[in-house]
Amino acid sequence: MYDLIIIGGGPAGLTAGLYNSRSRLNVLLLERLAPGGQVLTTDWVENYPGFPDGISGFDLIDKMKTQAENFDLQIRNEEVVRLELLNEKKIVFTHKERLETKAVILACGATPRKIGIEGEELLTGKGISYCATCDGPFYRDQEVAVIGGGDTAVEEAIFLTRFCSKIHLIHRRDRLRAIELLQERARTEEKIEFVWDTVPVKILGENGVEGIALKNVKTGETTRKEVQGVFIFIGTQPNSDLARDMVKLDENGFIITDNNMETSIPGVFAAGDVRSKLFRQIATAVGEGAAASYSVERYLEGLNFIGDS
Ligand code: NAP
Repeated sequence: MYDLIIIGGGPAGLTAGLYNSRSRLNVLLLERLAPGGQVLTTDWVENYPGFPDGISGFDLIDKMKTQAENFDLQIRNEEVVRLELLNEKKIVFTHKERLETKAVILACGATPRKIGIEGEELLTGKGISYCATCDGPFYRDQEVAVIGGGDTAVEEAIFLTRFCSKIHLIHRRDRLRAIELLQERARTEEKIEFVWDTVPVKILGENGVEGIALKNVKTGETTRKEVQGVFIFIGTQPNSDLARDMVKLDENGFIITDNNMETSIPGVFAAGDVRSKLFRQIATAVGEGAAASYSVERYLEGLNFIGDS
């Protein structure tokens, strides 16, 4: 039996894995694909302390993973398909295995939210993207639309200026939500054109994106823009389905914890973007991973469980 299984290999999961492995617990981290989570879709990180010149998302995750593995964290690329969390002994089912553990940290992160308009499903992967770092280079010298007004939309629009000839940044209000520094940078980019008070109503095309139909929310006027790509950045939704009927969730499906990262079930903790909170950053995920690891150790000590396996 494991002392701890961590589900998710983003900054929260890798930090908890580092701390608990270093404390000599028997820890397994399960990650569907490669560790990294959303950071892997971030080209350049410049607000994570310790890297004054910034660092690529890929390199940052690589360093976190190496550091955790140096303390013998076991990492496996396996998708978790079911959980049994309610008893003292927790069971984690993957496609291949049934695993037993004394404690679980849910660090499953969040995935980009879909906008739910006509054409989105049909053209996802055929001109619609949720990751500029992954797909931006395909749109060299082409016009694209970016939907959203938060940090992600503005940051990714700026990134796309490296490749695209023009970026139409379409936002449903007349003020961006993104921090002022990003707004300033975007305003100085000649290739970015702001389209205010506007929402997309349909993405046009059959086998690839040919354009986007827009509606001005103040005037009701509808227009079309000929673009070859549409990048959607309208927030994230939590990857909490696995635990949905067991742990308490907020109205948006994020996992509710106390200040020590404990969920409504003893021995089950949550950290990172899947948690109900206001601020989602690499730095906050790392802090929560560390806090969760401490709570796990206290929980296991209370159970008088350590070393039983
Ligand atoms: P966000 O802050 O929730 O912003 C989502 C944006 O999409 C908002 O501008 C919102 O408009 C718009 N939107 C939401 N639903 C929409 C819909 N149905 N149709 C059209 N527009 C819609 O999400 P995010 O930008 O992904 O950021 C998530 C978190 O990560 C934030 O805490 C952010 O600070 C953080 N983050 C930080 C960095 C960084 O520090 N470098 C980078 C990326 C993300 P309204 O403004 O009108 O609500």
